[in-house]
Amino acid sequence: MPDYAYKPMGTHESALGFVRWAMVVVSLGGAAQAAEQSQSRAEIERTVARLLASDRAPEAAAVLEEFLKTNPADPQILFDASRVSARMGDPRRSASYAIEALRAGWMDDKALDEHPDLASARGHESWEQVVKIRLDLRATGPAPDPARVPGSTREECELGPSATARTSLSAWLDRFGGGRYRIEPAARLNLLVASSIDREGLDRTLAMLAKLADALTQTLLERTPEQAVLLVIATPTDAQAYFKDPQQAGLYEHRLRQLVVRDTGSTLRHEYTHAIHHGHMERLGQRHPLWIQEALATLFEDWERGPNNEVVLKPNLRTNEAYELVRKRKDLPWTEFVALDDAAFMTAAVDHYAQARSMLLYAAEMGKLQEWYRALTKGFGTDPTGRRALEQVFSAPIGRIEEQWRAWVMDRGKIDATLADGDGVMGISVSGVADGVHIDSVQAGGPAQRAGLREGDVIVQIDATEIRSAGDFLVASARRNAGESLAVRFRRGQIYGTIQVRLASGHASPS
Ligand SMILES: [Zn+2]
Repeated sequence: MPDYAYKPMGTHESALGFVRWAMVVVSLGGAAQAAEQSQSRAEIERTVARLLASDRAPEAAAVLEEFLKTNPADPQILFDASRVSARMGDPRRSASYAIEALRAGWMDDKALDEHPDLASARGHESWEQVVKIRLDLRATGPAPDPARVPGSTREECELGPSATARTSLSAWLDRFGGGRYRIEPAARLNLLVASSIDREGLDRTLAMLAKLADALTQTLLERTPEQAVLLVIATPTDAQAYFKDPQQAGLYEHRLRQLVVRDTGSTLRHEYTHAIHHGHMERLGQRHPLWIQEALATLFEDWERGPNNEVVLKPNLRTNEAYELVRKRKDLPWTEFVALDDAAFMTAAVDHYAQARSMLLYAAEMGKLQEWYRALTKGFGTDPTGRRALEQVFSAPIGRIEEQWRAWVMDRGKIDATLADGDGVMGISVSGVADGVHIDSVQAGGPAQRAGLREGDVIVQIDATEIRSAGDFLVASARRNAGESLAVRFRRGQIYGTIQVRLASGHASPS
């Protein structure tokens, strides 16, 4: 395995290293009660389970029917009604409830196919209609196979997709059409996915998110949100229409339980962290200030597992921004920074994101990130800014912590993300697309062309590093030397291939 440590600038090689912090394993077991779920709904479920356990199906049916009078499109309750009808020996009624459940957004095909309560109904002719309607509803993509979502440790999805995510999906499809999206649930992540990328790209993306979800829930945020979130991996055209700002690559809107991205790299990791953090804030009944929301989201843009399976947060291009801010003394004093309101925070977003990430990266390296987050959530009532929590865990006034942080920033320096003489180049120019980087042009006679890469190919991996954005490509290629040979995995239309590219020396990236 190649060493993917960032090359430090100057002489701080040993000092840069990686930022490490101990992993605290939070038990992932145990289904949690959904915070958003109404109490009556939870009560209904308990009552029905109790009645069914003592073989009182007719009473359970009455309870469900009563609930459906006021909530006629609740997929879980409709599914339960289908089960109960089957147990009462009414397969037609069971099928009709199953169809309603599907139309209301029921996504658990396994339960429909295998739940023992439905055994008799499945054998009846009326069930053919259930199968047919399900196929129609799933026509935009094949039925999901949970085994194809590797890397997840979640036993199962705790609840079906939320009505909100389902509604957001309908709104998206109404606006942009469904033809280019594969719709499927990612049950273990509690995501409803509308994907414009192909099967391999999506599987890799979901595997990446599963690892991120594990890292976030094991270290800081306890568990993923109970309510499903819609993930849209948008086509370039739809992304263009959706994002007002052409620079914007992703957005999570908690109100809609909707996460839209145009690339599946650091942008998706950033926005998905927002989604999980929002779930935690909602459970706590807190709304953390923007500097904290963005600090957490940016922190998990770049991370990996260390040798002892610990979560290792890595410096990234924002590290370089923070370095320049501090060097030019353009960073904001921490007392002001933590007190910025949302509007003020967003006025210099790029700078503020970089400073926020750097501050928490520093806390992480000092082994205080988890402690700080816990102190923040515990003391949120007295100080929502995070300042007192910082002073508490560092046992120092905020000005003092800031001083030490500034020294640390200067000491660590920047990551190598520029081409210098002697760096290896492939002889291509690229731009980010949803599943990798698109080759916009190929230098005649250059290394990429000699190896057989063409304009229009999409690079998805270099050696063991997945390439999901132009930034990934920049960092991956900036630290390789001329003469090195890279295994480049690429997609040409629907076909994937892997070739060896021997890097040449010079500035082959045409500008
Ligand atoms: Zn953000």
